[in-house]
Amino acid sequence: MRAINFSAMNFRRSNDQMKRWRISAKLLIWCSLAAIAGFSAICGSVMLDMRRGEQALAQQTMENLAATLDSDISRNIELYDLSLRNVVSHITEPELAGVSKRVLNLVLFDNAATAKHFGTIQVFDADGRLKHDSSTLDPKPENRANEEFFKAHRDNPNAGLLIGLPGMHQGVYSMVLSRRITGKDGSFQGVVAGSLHLSYFHDLLRRLTLLPDDIITIFRNDGVVIMRTPFDLEFIGKDLTYKASVRKMLVERSGAVSDASAFDGSERLFIWRDSSRPVVVMVGKSWTDIFALWRRQAFRVGGIMLALIVLVAGATLMLAREIRRRERAERKLEELATTDALTGLRNRRKFDQTITQQWQHAQQRQQPLALLMIDADHFKTFNDMFGHQAGDDVLVRIANCIAGAAKRSDDCAARYGGEEFAVLLPGQPMEAALAIGESIRTSVEMLSADRWTTTVSVGIASLVPDASWQPADLIEAADKALYAAKSRGRNCSVAAPDDKRLPRVA
Ligand code: GH3
Ligand code: MG
Ligand code: MG
Repeated sequence: MRAINFSAMNFRRSNDQMKRWRISAKLLIWCSLAAIAGFSAICGSVMLDMRRGEQALAQQTMENLAATLDSDISRNIELYDLSLRNVVSHITEPELAGVSKRVLNLVLFDNAATAKHFGTIQVFDADGRLKHDSSTLDPKPENRANEEFFKAHRDNPNAGLLIGLPGMHQGVYSMVLSRRITGKDGSFQGVVAGSLHLSYFHDLLRRLTLLPDDIITIFRNDGVVIMRTPFDLEFIGKDLTYKASVRKMLVERSGAVSDASAFDGSERLFIWRDSSRPVVVMVGKSWTDIFALWRRQAFRVGGIMLALIVLVAGATLMLAREIRRRERAERKLEELATTDALTGLRNRRKFDQTITQQWQHAQQRQQPLALLMIDADHFKTFNDMFGHQAGDDVLVRIANCIAGAAKRSDDCAARYGGEEFAVLLPGQPMEAALAIGESIRTSVEMLSADRWTTTVSVGIASLVPDASWQPADLIEAADKALYAAKSRGRNCSVAAPDDKRLPRVA
C-alpha cells in the first residue's frame, strides 16, 4: 500500500507540473496581449490628447489673428465713418449757408480723407449732383443718382453706414462708404460718400506670415467677399452665402466650423470672432496643416509602438512555443516512465496510480471496478526449454492478446511483474469481466506453437468500492482467484467470491 501511495504522489506531482507549464504558456500569451493592449490604449489616449491639444492651439492662434485683424479694420472704418458723420452733421447747418467754399471745406472735411488708403469724401445733393469734394474747391460736375448707394440712402432713412461692393471707383479698386444726409425735417438732402481702397487690405494681409494653404477672407456682413488672401480677383465681390460656413458666420457672432473651401474644395477649419461688425474676418486653416506636427509625432510614436508590439509578440510566441515543446517532452517522458519497455503495456507504477484513481471514481459513482490478474503457466519451464529470449517473445504476444481485449479508453492493461499481468476494467461487473478474462485466455491459447502451447491462468475480482475497502483488497481478491485457477490445473479463469465475502479492512 505504501508503494501505491508513493507512486500516486509522484504521478500527481508530475501532472501538476504539466498543468503549471500549460497554464504558464497560456498565461504568458494573455499577459503579453494585455500588456500590448494596455500600452496601445495608453499610447492611443496620449496621441488623442496631443491631437486635441494641436487643434486647440491652432484654434486659439486663428482666433487671435481674426480678432487682431477685426479690430484693425473696424478701427479704420470707424475713424473714416467719423469723418462722414462730421459732414452729415455740419452740412445742414444754416450758419454755413453763406460761408466761402474754402471755409466750408475746412469745416466739413478733416484730415481723415487724406489718410493713406482712403479716397476723397464727396457730398451729393438730393438729385445726386456732386456739391462738395474734399480734394478740390471746384469739383467737376458729376451725378451719382443712379448709383446703388445713392438709391439705398434715398429710399431708406435708416440705412446708416453703407459699405458698397468692391470695384473700380475714381480709377482705384475700392469700396464706397456712404451715409445719408437728412434735413431737420427728416427730408432726404443727399449723400456723403468716401472710399476705402482695397490696397489697405492688401497691406494688412501682406504683413502676415501664413502657410500656403492658409486662407483669410474679409467679408462684408452680408457674406460678400471684400478681400482674401491668397488674392484671387474672381472671388472679390462674390457672394459666398451658398457656403454653410459663411451662413453660420452670419448667424453666429463668433464661432468655428469645418467646411470645404470655396477656393480649392479642401476641408479647412474656419474661425471668426465678431460678425456683428460691418466687416468680418474669417481665418481658414487646412486640417493637414493643423495636424502636421501631430501626424509626424504620431507616425514616430506609432512606429516605435508597432516595433515594440512586434518584438513583444515575437518573444511571447517564441517563449510559448518553447513552453509547448517542453510540455510535449514532459508528456513523452511521462509516457516512457509509465510504459513497460518489453510489452508496451502500462508498467507497474502506472498500474498503481491508475487503480487508486479508478478506485476513487468507482467509489464516487458507486460503479463496479473489475481486476483481472493474468499469469503465464509454467513459464519457468518454458524459459528453461526455449531460452529467455523466446520467453520474452511469448510475453509480448500475451500482452498483445491482453491489449486486444481491454480496448476501452479507461481500461488499463499493465505488466504487473515478471510473467504476470493485471487488467483494470472500470464499470465492469463480474460477468463482463469474466467474459473478457476468458477471451484473453482463449486468444493466448490459440497462439500457434509447434512444440509448446502457451496458456495463462486468470483470476477475476469485481466490486463496487465502499469506504471500508481499499484497492489492495481488490488486488488481493483477484490474486486469490488467480491462485485458485492455478490450483484448478491452470489455463482457466476463476472469479473471486461475491464481494460481500471479500476480506474487510479492520
Ligand atoms: P506457474 O504456472 O505456477 O506460474 O509457474 P511458473 O513457472 O510460470 O511460475 P514461476 O513463478 O515459478 O516462474 C516465473 C518465471 O517467469 C521465472 C522467470 O524465469 C520467468 N520470467 C519472469 N520475468 C521474465 C521475463 O521478463 N522474461 C522471461 N523470458 N521470463 C521471465
Ligand atoms: Mg507463471
Ligand atoms: Mg508468476
